[in-house]
Amino acid sequence: MKIARFNEGRVGVVVDDQHLVDISDLAGMDTHQWPPVGPTSLIARFAELRPRIEQALGDLPRIALASVKLQTPVPWPNKVIAYPVNYHDHGREMQANYRATHQGFFLKPNSSLSGAGEPVVLPNVPTREVHHESELAIVIGKEARGIRREDWKDYVFGYACLLDMVVRGREERVFRKAYDSFCPVGPWITTADEVGDPTNLEMELWVNGESKQHANTRDLVLDIPGMVEMAAAVMTLYPGDIIATGTPAGVGPVRAGDKVRIRIERVGEMTVDVVQGTQGATAVFETPYTPDIVKQK
Ligand code: MN
Repeated sequence: MKIARFNEGRVGVVVDDQHLVDISDLAGMDTHQWPPVGPTSLIARFAELRPRIEQALGDLPRIALASVKLQTPVPWPNKVIAYPVNYHDHGREMQANYRATHQGFFLKPNSSLSGAGEPVVLPNVPTREVHHESELAIVIGKEARGIRREDWKDYVFGYACLLDMVVRGREERVFRKAYDSFCPVGPWITTADEVGDPTNLEMELWVNGESKQHANTRDLVLDIPGMVEMAAAVMTLYPGDIIATGTPAGVGPVRAGDKVRIRIERVGEMTVDVVQGTQGATAVFETPYTPDIVKQK
């Protein structure tokens, strides 16, 4: 099943390539609630609600996907976890002497989340490049702490495409990755049963139609079971938590006017516009920095 969020907090199920069905009322969601935790609790209750949703899909009106604005599927998770340097080729291009297996994760602020129908807003930091990182997102479905690696599947709700946007530099990683709109997730969550085996998914990213990143999740250094196990070793994972699994080689700058397209096999595809914003200038990025990226064969 594909669970989308659209038009000011409605939740829908995508029923074919061109339509979705609004299940907000069926799921008992208050779409005006603040904070917007409806999707978080929908994920927690999904197993219980699923039969009712499936039964109602044929009876509810179909809405053209082209007519809605897709928002980030889980706007208020407990946390967004992200694994750095988790493909060897990206580690080589960045000349990083570590990998996620022995580095652990960092967090991105929930306020950086945005959706497929929203632009990436570049901060006013003219001395710096803002880079795209294409990543598979794991969405947690069940509370987890201290779990065994072999049980990882029990805790995964689904998957989505994720762009881990970053201002390149040597300052705090979280600071450089924290801007509003620096974590587009979408176009929706595809549930784990529909994706099947996530350890062999083709993933590609284009900027203005030109392929920049192309990889397969089989090349992850710390694999998907390992990422769930490691995160749950440290913290309690909650339904709706998002794990950004790391980016392969080919990262590079985006500029205002660019269109960034990400596609992950059996998960989805989205194209996000890049626009220039006026906010975001701080003392931190006063000094220029140009990353020394080593081109991968
Ligand atoms: Mn990343």
